[in-house]
Amino acid sequence: MMPFAFDNTYARELPGTYVPWKPAAVPAPRLLFFNEPLAAELGLDATALRGDDGAALFAGNLLPDGAEPIAQAYAGHQFGGFSPQLGDGRALLIGELIDRAGVRRDIAFKGSGRTPFSRGGDGKAAVGPMLREVLIGEAMHALGIPTTRALAVAATGEAVVRETALPGAVLTRVASSHLRVGTLQYFAARGEIDQLRRLVDYAIARHDPALVALSEAERPLGLLRAVAARQAELLAQWMNIGFIHGVMNTDNMALAGETIDYGPCAFMEAYDPAAVFSSIDHGGRYAFGNQPHIARWNLARCAEALLPLMADADDDASVQRAVAACTDVIDAFPEAFDSAWRRGQRAKLGLQGGAQAEDAALADDWLALLQAQAVDFTLAWRHLADAAEGRGAPLRALWSDAAPLEAWLARWSERCAREGGSPVERAAAMRRVNPWVIPRNHRVEEALAAASSDDDLGPFRLLLEALRQPFDEDRSRAGYAEPAPREVTAGYRTFCGT
Ligand code: AMP
Ligand code: MG
Repeated sequence: MMPFAFDNTYARELPGTYVPWKPAAVPAPRLLFFNEPLAAELGLDATALRGDDGAALFAGNLLPDGAEPIAQAYAGHQFGGFSPQLGDGRALLIGELIDRAGVRRDIAFKGSGRTPFSRGGDGKAAVGPMLREVLIGEAMHALGIPTTRALAVAATGEAVVRETALPGAVLTRVASSHLRVGTLQYFAARGEIDQLRRLVDYAIARHDPALVALSEAERPLGLLRAVAARQAELLAQWMNIGFIHGVMNTDNMALAGETIDYGPCAFMEAYDPAAVFSSIDHGGRYAFGNQPHIARWNLARCAEALLPLMADADDDASVQRAVAACTDVIDAFPEAFDSAWRRGQRAKLGLQGGAQAEDAALADDWLALLQAQAVDFTLAWRHLADAAEGRGAPLRALWSDAAPLEAWLARWSERCAREGGSPVERAAAMRRVNPWVIPRNHRVEEALAAASSDDDLGPFRLLLEALRQPFDEDRSRAGYAEPAPREVTAGYRTFCGT
């Protein structure tokens, strides 16, 4: 079977950074989800993939021609502690292809069985968490946020043992690459400097071709700068949409700047920088408001991994120079994040002209108002668009006491008026950046429970359809726009190692 025109540069160019490995055979493949729009982007023949062959392929039973499945090595700081060997414990990169836009994309399995990196794990995945990865990834994509995406989910017909027995599944993930901060860390920690250099060159060729012209000595710093710039943009988008990744370990930070690994992630409802849903994040390390700080911390780990390429360890002066250069990049991160975040906020506020000195305070005061009365983050922004064209009632209705809002609204209206432009156009522009539908946690859970426990994909499909058009205010989908009852959100927990 030849549906993919694979061209596997990672397997070819980076021997020693992975282990060739085969997906496990499974008893009864059945396709639960196939991503038609993504298949089109990838230039795949969807008719060949939708049927039984597709099910066998996406479950790992039938390897397509040209596939060279490999388990990639990587390390990572998990909740601050370094694990020198993680790696693809239940994933395999099966190949790379060039999409219709000319971009190289990884095609990988998740849940395809044990590998040499599995440690104690079973290498498997369950239907619920894999469909969750579909929903959140497609939502992020539709929201304009860089993300890995699911091409398919196949049920395996096999039970996976977690707290209870769950139906098993394999997800096919598409990524700009699976290079992580942790990939660099793995080789740096082992002192395999040649491999580290090859990885840096590979990452640059793939993600930052403009840096190929740099000298060998300049490339690691160039890569660090590029990774930092992408993370600043990514984190700004997360923060402006209310996304909580939940497990920002360095092995889950992609050099390509895509959101990766939808495990214990969640979307914020009532605005609260301290919001945390992950069952294992007791200290709130990965709480909503902490994410930009963690990104910076992770970049510092990335810099440490690159340091052996930038300095001669026996030459103090060269080490100091390299450390100073990296420190400059890391210290510049908060400002880079801030500038991207503020730019996004201005768009959300309906301000399209140049930034004014007062805009940051306007945005900060708005968020403080949301926090003070635990107002739903998504709906507040969305109804601010209504207020821009003179319909303030839906916005006011979100506040238990709207009085504190009035003074702010007066300031904001005055700021908008000074900028000029038509209220209708402003509202329309705001509705293009302030979504109406996000993956509400209770809706996601409901869809996954139906799929996993009752084998009913109906709720999953309807939710997916809504999430693919997040900015459209389609009243027939009003149920997807509403927050969960507060007590549901208060008790909501997400899980890792799913
Ligand atoms: P994650 O929390 O999904 O980012 O995974 C962290 C590490 O644990 C990675 O090295 C995974 O490959 C590994 N891992 C997670 N779940 C399993 C599993 N069920 N079996 C084997 N390895 C796993
Ligand atoms: Mg991971």
